[in-house]
Amino acid sequence: MSQQPEADDGEQLGLECPKCCCWDFRAYYTRRQAKRIRRVKICRHCGQRITTTERIVG
Ligand SMILES: [Zn+2]
Repeated sequence: MSQQPEADDGEQLGLECPKCCCWDFRAYYTRRQAKRIRRVKICRHCGQRITTTERIVG
């Protein structure tokens, strides 16, 4: 039992690589805007790049 998600400022989990189905992403860049955060992540295994947008609540 050592599966602890990396502490990353409130990052949502549940991201799965569409290519290789792994869960191992690293952040490529993070851009903070007024009410949302945009992240680009790259799969450590296959290099697939995905973009996520998170909304800031509150
Ligand atoms: Zn992948």
